Amino acid sequence: MTSNGIAILTGFVGTACFSVLPVKAQGHVHGEGTMHIVQDNNNWSVEIALPAADVLGFEHVPETTQQQQTVRDFASKFATSDKVVALNGECTLEDAHSSLPDHNEAQEHGHEKVSHAHSDIALTYRFSCQSTVSGVKVNLFQWLPSLNHIELQWAVADGQGASNLSPPNSAVTW
Ligand SMILES: [Zn+2]
Repeated sequence: MTSNGIAILTGFVGTACFSVLPVKAQGHVHGEGTMHIVQDNNNWSVEIALPAADVLGFEHVPETTQQQQTVRDFASKFATSDKVVALNGECTLEDAHSSLPDHNEAQEHGHEKVSHAHSDIALTYRFSCQSTVSGVKVNLFQWLPSLNHIELQWAVADGQGASNLSPPNSAVTW
């Protein structure tokens, strides 16, 4: 019940069944994540990639019961956006997805076990916003102590921009 489940963790890069950002081989640096925010009228999408090392503490297929539990714990943490990101506006979370599998999802995907030297965790959130959104705050730094930077890019009605977020600088206004 486990080897199927975890294959997704290390094997999602380049597979078609996840909606994730393409991860550049040289883009994987421990302590550094990426975030893309795109506005389409009232629909906002937030896509995040984090090194698995900074989320789980390991990047290999979970081998112990404890590691499997760690994966499940983070999957449930990521199921809502609260601990991850907050848009500064009147927004409702419409959809959340992480590349961490829950048990059932893992069976459906049935990936073969793939071993990579490194792996990222991909998170995708879609919001419906009924007001202007003036910026974003990242909450990940509060509970992922080894995460030092998130390279944020946004493309919103007011324009495009980028910012390098960090624990003392975890919010941006555009
Ligand atoms: Zn790594």
